[in-house]
Amino acid sequence: MKKADFEVIVVGGGHAGVEAALAAARMGCQTALLTMDPDKVALMPCNCSIGGPAKAHIAREIDALGGEMGRNIDRSYTHIRLLNTSKGPAVWALRAQADKQLYQREMSKVLLSQPNLTLMGGKVGALSSTGRRVTGVVCASGDTYKSLSVVVTTGTFLSGLIHMGETCYSAGRAGEPASLGLSDSLRSLGLELQRLKTGTVPRIDKDSLSFEELEVQPSSTDPLWFSFGNEGAPRQGLLPCWVTRTTEETRAIIERNLHLSALYAGRIDGAGPRYCPSIEDKMVKFPDKPSHIVFLEQEGWTSREIYVQGTSNSLPVGIQTAMLRSMPGMQNVKMLRPGYAVEYDFVPATQLRPSLEAKPIEGLFLAGQINGTSGYEEAAAQGLIAGINAAQHVHRGEPLVIARSEAYMGVLVDDLITKCPLEPYRMLTARAEFRLLLRQDNADLRLTEVGRKLGLVDNDSYNRFCNKRDTIEREKEWLSNNLIHPSVGVNQLLLGLGAAPLREAVRAEELLRRPEVAFIDVCSMCGESLRASPEVAREVETQIKFEGYIRRQREQVARSERAECQLIPDGLDYCTVRGLRKEGRDKLSLIRPSTVGQAGRITGVTPADVSVLSIHLKKIKMANP
Ligand SMILES: Cc1cc2nc3c(=O)[nH]c(=O)nc-3n(C[C@H](O)[C@H](O)[C@H](O)COP(=O)(O)OP(=O)(O)OC[C@H]3O[C@@H](n4cnc5c(N)ncnc54)[C@H](O)[C@@H]3O)c2cc1C
Repeated sequence: MKKADFEVIVVGGGHAGVEAALAAARMGCQTALLTMDPDKVALMPCNCSIGGPAKAHIAREIDALGGEMGRNIDRSYTHIRLLNTSKGPAVWALRAQADKQLYQREMSKVLLSQPNLTLMGGKVGALSSTGRRVTGVVCASGDTYKSLSVVVTTGTFLSGLIHMGETCYSAGRAGEPASLGLSDSLRSLGLELQRLKTGTVPRIDKDSLSFEELEVQPSSTDPLWFSFGNEGAPRQGLLPCWVTRTTEETRAIIERNLHLSALYAGRIDGAGPRYCPSIEDKMVKFPDKPSHIVFLEQEGWTSREIYVQGTSNSLPVGIQTAMLRSMPGMQNVKMLRPGYAVEYDFVPATQLRPSLEAKPIEGLFLAGQINGTSGYEEAAAQGLIAGINAAQHVHRGEPLVIARSEAYMGVLVDDLITKCPLEPYRMLTARAEFRLLLRQDNADLRLTEVGRKLGLVDNDSYNRFCNKRDTIEREKEWLSNNLIHPSVGVNQLLLGLGAAPLREAVRAEELLRRPEVAFIDVCSMCGESLRASPEVAREVETQIKFEGYIRRQREQVARSERAECQLIPDGLDYCTVRGLRKEGRDKLSLIRPSTVGQAGRITGVTPADVSVLSIHLKKIKMANP
């Protein structure tokens, strides 16, 4: 047999593919990233933004674990803001707009300079296998490449169909061909495929806007960065966004033409993203809402294209133009690219292990939109995990499985492998039960050690991380050891903050627990300037102020870990588990969870089923000590 050409082959150079390829190469595997068009790696076919609630958390986790997304958005953002600052720190979220082309160029540079990694152009038509093991890929050109492991990250391309009004044609996304043979190849390996759909908005010419009618939304001027390694002065000359709204006329145009919308005329079989609804959906589902907000976001420093956020649709081109022109500031707008919907095959991820390896076929990993998700961050997170586990597979190491209590990435994978999505899965803060532990600010404290052990975190980043972690501990100790005495100065400061004055000495830590008091205030009451960087100060404040809540969540985690530690043998025959309800047995047999904890999260499996299963496993263990 031909010797392997590569240890890991990654198919597809989108957000999942680039992270997978970089991770595998950084972990020392000879890796190929095989993608249809190497000039289009990390393309943002939809909104060119990274972050927002829950998505920022994922982007920071990717960064902490040694992935590239955070660094790349920092190299290329044109606009950035910190969202949700009026709420608790668990839901603070960075959101940045990228220069779309710069984002791609920068990612391309990283890929091309990565040792062990070869970026190649090619369309994969099939996977090759021996028995139940993947052995490589076969390109549409007839070229074959052998490998020990394959990661498939083909996004919306599998049997992709673009819909625009009554027009429908085969494509992976606008201007790019669909991937036609690969779905059958995946089926022949024992995987079941289903259909989903997503959509994108029209792009318009910036020079055709009437700015005097638009509300400006400037970028933040604070030094904000996604990557933990980045600090320093804020970037200058960032670009603004603008805000407009739909009108009664917009509604009338859409309602009059609903029968022409591919979505509403019933031409699309796949379900679309509920959390990112099309404009047709908004009009139909909220008939009494007089107006919907629309953001106009610039696609780059040199681009004239504006992304019209909030207007995803599958209407005919002429209707799209009329709809856009019905909004303030857009009466004379020139549409540069129409919006469209794309329908594609995906692989319900209940057929994957927690490592993202396909259950029926060894060495085959799937990541990104192919697993039923939507969004760059969700794709990149899975790509990173799949790339790590493909490398672990090659090295015969333990797969990396991240717990729900450790990261949003853990929540993401666990949800995907446990529940079959009825619509494209998007991460939301509400999906995480241990939100207070999973802040965007502490992603490094949660994951950098993990990334370091895998060889993904370089010395500089690791030293910076250790320094930050040690400083946080030192500052907490300082707060716990320092007494603050009532004095005129201290009490004046407290009254100025709207807090009650001191009657007796208290530990600095106690004072910091008060909602009105910040770390910098405590420092000045002790006659010091801010003792640590703003990043450390924020983390210390959060840990002290929310200590009680954090402790309670940790206790919940400890309780849930008992179920997570109870492993279910791979080949367990659920028919032998007496007392299981039929639905529970069917679901468990189908999804084959790896732990009792995971079993309990499967839709259709009740707490009674879980307890029956748990007793059964204990009996097996007692019989085979
Ligand atoms: C029209 C549209 C609308 C979208 N709307 C939203 C939205 O509303 N909200 C949201 O969060 N996200 C949206 N997205 C999704 C977002 O773009 C994806 O979630 C994200 O890009 C998925 O990343 P990925 O790496 O899985 O796949 P992609 O970024 O799609 O990358 C797939 C890559 O695989 C390559 N490829 C495919 N088949 C083959 C093959 N056979 N051989 C070699 N290479 C192959 C492609 O060339 C491409 O480089 C939308 C995407 C599209 C196209």
